[in-house]
Amino acid sequence: MLEGSLVKLPALSKSGVPNERVGVIHVHTRASDGSGTVAEVMEAAEKANLSFIAITDHNVALTPSELAEDPPDLPIISGVEIGTNAGHFLALGIPPSWQQPKTKNDRELLAAARAVGAFRILAHPFHPFTPWTDWKTSDFDGMEIWNEDAAWRQNSFFDLMDALLLYGENDQLALVRLASTPDDNFAKWDELLQQRRVAGICAADTHARIRLGIGKDWKFPGYVPSLKVAREHVLLPPDAGGGNPALASASELVQALKEGHSYCGLDSLYPADGFSFRVSNAQGSAGPGDTFHLAMPARLQISTPTGSSLPLIKIFRDGREIDEQEARTIDEPIAGPGRYRTELFLPQPGLSGFRRWTLWVFTNPVYVTAK
Ligand SMILES: [Zn+2]
Ligand SMILES: [Zn+2]
Repeated sequence: MLEGSLVKLPALSKSGVPNERVGVIHVHTRASDGSGTVAEVMEAAEKANLSFIAITDHNVALTPSELAEDPPDLPIISGVEIGTNAGHFLALGIPPSWQQPKTKNDRELLAAARAVGAFRILAHPFHPFTPWTDWKTSDFDGMEIWNEDAAWRQNSFFDLMDALLLYGENDQLALVRLASTPDDNFAKWDELLQQRRVAGICAADTHARIRLGIGKDWKFPGYVPSLKVAREHVLLPPDAGGGNPALASASELVQALKEGHSYCGLDSLYPADGFSFRVSNAQGSAGPGDTFHLAMPARLQISTPTGSSLPLIKIFRDGREIDEQEARTIDEPIAGPGRYRTELFLPQPGLSGFRRWTLWVFTNPVYVTAK
């Protein structure tokens, strides 16, 4: 366990990029099966240097007084995780104390959340025990591509034990060790993107609790370390927050997320703040979630934050990998219309990580259309 004390993962600070806000989506409190109160979760969010947090308890909304606990630079997104007979989905941006209909029918529940203007995200769609099963409906806006809870539960017993031993020494490294690429989620996302826009996000699904048996719980993984792993970086317009995106409201953040103006960073590996993925030409420039009309040749440009080890960058067009390079920046012509997205990988830190490539960043697509 010497490695636990030798490998220092980077400290995370608030993103210094003016239009970017970093937060965590899908957190449970004591109102359902989490171990902490809203106040304790907010304290952990401060320690993890977040600039927003989406609390989503099972089938119970936050109250007005709980929602009032947030400071202006760390808004709580009012959410709920709704259990249906087809799996779980998140509804973000719901009214305080919202009462969901008393049914398990997924179509009725999705429609009810749509009626209050919520951003609806399929949760852990390929979870080993609670996957999403109703793929015939298209009445949702987004899906979780990475779910930290599902990711570590999918590890082998050996890997899990190894990480648990490491956890006492270096909690962040232990969680990084358990990260794996969610291939099923990416494949399904690409399939859906062929038909319509679907926002992809990463989720913590933090409970800070494992049930060990009757009356016994273990607070693993804790709130603070798990709020440092999978973080959604929201890209805001310059007029957000009344001209100061650092003060963007919860509803502005939900709107940007719903439109796909975001990317996920597994920031424990290295803070992804300032990462950029754009399609540009002399007529304009588009980032994640934007539509770009291709009237003249354009270039795809990626730049990564300095200071990380050399990343592996993969570029996808309509679900097919079209380029793969170990590079810090990419600037290349695009061949034509399509949905362009990227995945970046970094080597695992430390000796026992064997430097294997680990998912670090994935973006929402830029939608390039023919003029
Ligand atoms: Zn769930
Ligand atoms: Zn959950």
